[in-house]
Amino acid sequence: MSSKEEITLIGAGLVGSLMSIYLGQRGYQVNVYEKLPDIRKTTIPAGRSINLALANRGIRALEQVGIIDKVNELLIPMKGRMLHDVNGELTLQPYGRKPEEVIYSVSRAGLVSLLRDEAESTGNVTFCFEQGLTDIDPDNKTFSIKHTQTNNIQTLDYDILLGADGAGSQTRQVLEKLGVDGFSSELLEHSYKELTIPAGTADAPFQIEKEALHIWPRGGYMLIALPNLDGSFTVTLFMPNEGPVSFEAFKSKEEVEAFFKEQFSDVLELIPSLAQDYFNNPTGILGTVRSKNWSYKDILLFGDASHAIVPFHGQGMNCGFEDCSELHRLLNQYSDDWSPVMQAFADARKDNANAIADMALENYIEMRDSVRDPKFQLKKQIAFKLEELYPTTFIPRYSMVMFHHMPYAEAYRRGKVQNDILNQLTENSDSIEHIDWDQARQLVEQNLEPFSKEF
Ligand code: FAD
Repeated sequence: MSSKEEITLIGAGLVGSLMSIYLGQRGYQVNVYEKLPDIRKTTIPAGRSINLALANRGIRALEQVGIIDKVNELLIPMKGRMLHDVNGELTLQPYGRKPEEVIYSVSRAGLVSLLRDEAESTGNVTFCFEQGLTDIDPDNKTFSIKHTQTNNIQTLDYDILLGADGAGSQTRQVLEKLGVDGFSSELLEHSYKELTIPAGTADAPFQIEKEALHIWPRGGYMLIALPNLDGSFTVTLFMPNEGPVSFEAFKSKEEVEAFFKEQFSDVLELIPSLAQDYFNNPTGILGTVRSKNWSYKDILLFGDASHAIVPFHGQGMNCGFEDCSELHRLLNQYSDDWSPVMQAFADARKDNANAIADMALENYIEMRDSVRDPKFQLKKQIAFKLEELYPTTFIPRYSMVMFHHMPYAEAYRRGKVQNDILNQLTENSDSIEHIDWDQARQLVEQNLEPFSKEF
């Protein structure tokens, strides 16, 4: 197969738009079909994941397509978690040991708009908005698209069809209908709601610390806030769907305000439209999608379409961007022969996608609960110290995921071994002064092999 094949890409979200840049740069003609109107020409509906955290895996892909300088203008570094306790006391827990180990808050609309502009500037990518995929016939290599305004359905031919249409992927659903098995979707029993801390004054636009990801951890639920360039913060409440403290429980303005007054008193006055936003903004569902088969005939799934994860590790987009660089690497390796590329891509990504899905679920408990635990904080201190002492062998799991490029599955595996080491070292100690560093060295040497290469 030659690189002159046309690519049909379903979904112009973050991952589809980035992949269209890679493919446009490789000389493919790409037609991207997106169900929604173009975000560059319309305002986005309130309450739908306004900003998100970009980390090294995503950054590497943006560097690879040569647009990181433009992306940098959209970024705000976040150095760590700023914990807010019920009394409003603040503690900063740095994300990494080194100053450059930060993650970045970025506007979803800003980033996706830039990606689409850059895709179009390759001269090879055409976006078709308000056109939703409805069906695919893999034997005749045709797909059907419905115009969301006119309801007009068109059936068109494709050479290669890439499905990047997100967690609820219609491409994936068509494959399921065709009998392709191995897909699973699991809803979390917690949902989310977005609120806003507006910008302050021109002199002090950020009403809380700008360069941090704020967390109000409360055990069974939590509030978080990420900064935006205009000084505002997007605040997200994560809470169970049912139970005494839940989305089901609060039915009136008074109940919501009383709950915030009791649990998040230091932020209450910073969210003037609390009740209005709470009742007007949608409650977003969260879940995990896993796939055993990512490809079928000339169709390939990637991004959230094949591996949606809960947002607690800030890795959904980053993982999807890593998909794009991996696909690009394999297209190089197989000289653009899509048939082996599709299988090799699925083989390379499947275990890694499952590993980050599991780590993201685990991280919810860390964010909403463990961060407050002195034992957790002690283990974090020790992990940083071990990284300093054995930099080629021990890297804290959060850092392996966020600041390095080793496969997620490897980070997950090593993370478990490291956690056992930290458990043993802290079994009888509650302070870093009491750690037996000889025992630490022995445990590291006995249980962890040095990294085989620079990740
Ligand atoms: P999407 O962004 O969902 O894009 C899919 C696109 O396909 C959409 O534009 C959709 O309109 C379109 N589409 C759907 N159906 C059709 C159809 N039938 N035909 C045509 N087009 C269709 N990730 C991070 O890395 N860091 C974070 O901090 C982070 N925070 C998050 C916070 C929240 C609250 C949530 C919900 C997610 C977060 N994520 C985060 C995850 C991240 O948003 C996703 O992983 C990412 O958006 C996946 O990109 P995608 O392009 O695969 O899917």
